[in-house]
This record gives sequence, C-alpha cells and structure tokens, in this order.
Amino acid sequence: MSLRLRLTILYSALTGGILLVFGMLIFFLVSVLLVNQVDNILTAAAREVLGRVRFNTYGRLSLSEFLRSDLMAGVSVLLLNEQGEIEYDSTFILDPETPFETNNLQKRRQEFSSVYIEGFHLRVLNIPLKVGARQVGTLQLAYNTSNLSATRQALLQVIIIAALTSTLVAAAASWLSLDRALSPLAAVTETAMQITHADDLSRRIPLEGLANDEIGRLVAAFNETLERLERLFNSQQRFLADVSHELRTPLTVIKGNVALMRKIGVTDTDLLAGIEEESDRLTRLVVNLLLEAQAESGKLPLHFAALELDTLLLEVLNEMRVLARDRVRLRITEIDQVLVNGDRDRLEQVFINLISNAIKYTPAGGTVFIGLAKVGENARVIVRDTGVGISKKDLPHIFERFYRAEKSRSRAVDSGFGLGLSISQWIITHHGGRIEVNSVEGKGTTFLIYLPLLKAETASPAGQAA
Ligand code: ADP
Repeated sequence: MSLRLRLTILYSALTGGILLVFGMLIFFLVSVLLVNQVDNILTAAAREVLGRVRFNTYGRLSLSEFLRSDLMAGVSVLLLNEQGEIEYDSTFILDPETPFETNNLQKRRQEFSSVYIEGFHLRVLNIPLKVGARQVGTLQLAYNTSNLSATRQALLQVIIIAALTSTLVAAAASWLSLDRALSPLAAVTETAMQITHADDLSRRIPLEGLANDEIGRLVAAFNETLERLERLFNSQQRFLADVSHELRTPLTVIKGNVALMRKIGVTDTDLLAGIEEESDRLTRLVVNLLLEAQAESGKLPLHFAALELDTLLLEVLNEMRVLARDRVRLRITEIDQVLVNGDRDRLEQVFINLISNAIKYTPAGGTVFIGLAKVGENARVIVRDTGVGISKKDLPHIFERFYRAEKSRSRAVDSGFGLGLSISQWIITHHGGRIEVNSVEGKGTTFLIYLPLLKAETASPAGQAA
C-alpha cells in the first residue's frame, strides 16, 4: 500500500472517529438533559396532584378538585387502587383501560421509567400512595416524549451524516494535498533511478518551487550527497588516470635504460641512476597508496607514546636540508620543548610531507620557515613558505584524496600523487589535533598543525600563547 493511501486512510479515519466520538458525547448529553427536564416537569406535576388525592372510607381514591391543565403542562395522571385498577384518569394520551406501566406498581419507592406503548414514547413517574404504613394505591404521571425521541433520532442522524461527510472530505483533501506534498519524493526516486540506469552522477533534483520543509531539506541533502559522490567519483577517475600515467612513465624510463645498456653492452652509471630514481618513485607511490588504503579502511595502526616533538622536527629538518640544497633556505623561527602523545613514525611522515611540499612548491631563492610553540593546551607547528601558493579554487580541496592543484599536476618530474595531505590530515585528526592552511597565490602558503600537549605539558594559556 502506498504511503499516500496509508496517510489518507489514517487522516480520514482520525477525522471521522474524532467527530463520531464527540457527536456521540453530545448526543448522550442532550438525551440526559432532555430526560432530566421531563423528570423535573413530572416531579412538579406530582407535587400538584399529591395535594389533591383523597382516600375515602370505602377505600376509593379520588381527586378533591380538577387539575388545571396549565399547571399540569401536558402531564397525564392515573390514580390506581391497591389492585392496580384505574380510579381516576386525566389522560389525554391513551385509552384509559390500562396503567401506563405495571413493573413498578409494587415498588415502595417512587420510580421513573421510560416505556413505549401504543405507538407512544412515555416517561412515567410511579409514586406509591400510603396511608400510614399501608399502600392504598399508586399515582402514575406520564409525559409524552415522542417528539423528544424524534428530535434525538434526528440529532443522531445529523451526527452520523456529519461524521461520514467529514470523513469523505478529509479523505479527498488528504489525497489531493498529499499528492502535492509527496510529488517531490517521486522526483527523488525517479532521479535516483535515472542515475542508476544512466550512470550519470551529474543529475540533480530541481529545488525550485519546493518549500523549506522536510521534503525540501531532503531534496537539498540528496543533491548535496550527489554533489559529493560526483566529486569523489571524478577524483577517483582522475586518480586512476594519474596512477596509470605515473606508473607508465617510470616503467618506460626503466625499460628504455635497460634496453640501452643491453645495446651498448656496458653498465652505465647514469642509466643506472635513472633506473634507481624511477624505482624510488614507484616505491613511494605504492607505499602512499597502501597507507591511504589502510587509513581509509581504518586499519592504519597508530602506536602512541610520549614524544619530544622538537627533537623529531629537528631530525626531519636535517633530512630536508638535502632536498632543499642551496635552492631554498630552511629557517627555524622558534622551537619550544614540547611533549605530545603520538606515533613517532606517522608524525615524522606528516612533517616530511609538509616541509617537502613547501620546498617543492617554492622557487629557487625562496625560504621555508618552520616553528614549534606551545599555544594553550596545544603544540603548534607552523610550516610557511614563500612559494607559488594555492589558488582559491584549489584551496578547499587540497586535503581531498588524489587532489592535485592544476599547476602541480603538470610538474611531471617531482610531482606527488595528491595523497600526502589527505594522509597527513588523517594522522593529525587521529591524534586529536587539527591541520589548517592559509595561502595567497604567488606569495606563499602556511600550514598550521595543532596537537594536544601531554597532560603534564599543558602550559598556562596566557604564558605561552604566541
Ligand atoms: P602531492 O604529493 O601532489 O604534493 P599533497 O596531498 O601533499 O600531494 O598536496 C596536494 C596538493 O596541494 C598539491 O598537489 C599541491 O597542488 C598543493 N600544495 C600542497 N602544499 C603546497 C605548498 N606548500 N604550496 C603550494 N601548493 C601546495
């Protein structure tokens, strides 16, 4: 059963049910009030009559004076003797041969009852007449409630018809409004199916005309998911193309060098160096891919221990001097003694990645500044360069897997694979820290890493903040 049909049935059943319950309540309330009113009339009339009832020495019952019809307000009176025979009858209603009712004749208390005789609905008040302790007869007063019964009947019909009509109206209204409200969902389904069938992630569900309600937000969220999926899908495709290219280039060089050496029949050191360089590049690619896959599947183990970050950073800097040679200057701006809880090898990898990127993307004569300080409860590492910078377009994406800025993609020789920053970010966030970047194209780039200090290391925020 469709959601639309289910909701329509639910709404209309609720509307009809609620109306019916309220209608019934009103019906019973009105009935009770009407009966009460009639009972009051009967009680008032009984008072009038009781004052006039006489019991003579022959044991007969009679009334001392006539009953005035204005006082009786439509109430009929029967006086019955001990045997239940009629002694007096003022009835305007019935053929006066039988009592209004016989069930309560023997009762010793006055009783109200409702009876239906000869086509009339009567409300009857039965009052035992006593002389001393002896019951000498019964006074019966009756009020014709046939009109009231007809009114109640009509009320009941109105209630049932109103409940049925509103159920139908509610059903029609729900059916139509749900069609409007749920139609975007049909669009979502259709788009999802189209995407599946046509393998086309670029489709979006139009947001125009949709209210900012649950469905509008669902569609917006769905579009965002598609956007992300499309980006991811594109970057993976690009990555596959890149990896194939990256693999092919060094393999071609290696194969070419080997072929050349075979041809000339001697082992040439330059050709061997070329083979070694390309093999190193291949190894780097494979290692990075493996790391990325492990991080992605959550299987990259981190071995935490107390770690002197300043010592580690200085070690990395010494390694990096080889890479920088005389081309780029490496400067330390400040270096505090800092203890963190971290995985030495992984953090070393992060620093190598950031500093080698800084060197790589800084033209000859530029400078890379490195600093380590305590800031509040964190250690802050700054790697700033005076290099090519990152464009505004690329900046939001550089931590994405396989993302490489257009400029760096063309740098065939020492370009990376767009994996370093995404792995670095994974490592830093899994240390409870964060990594930030600021960059101005053509001026330079600054990477900031914040890592929580070891508890005993936490400096007073005012003291060390730089
Ligand atoms: P890669 O191995 O390609 O350098 P990364 O993940 O380390 O991959 O970096 C992603 C991209 O971010 C790089 O391709 C480059 O375009 C850009 N990038 C990173 N660091 C810098 C920097 N210091 N200066 C300019 N661009 C940078």
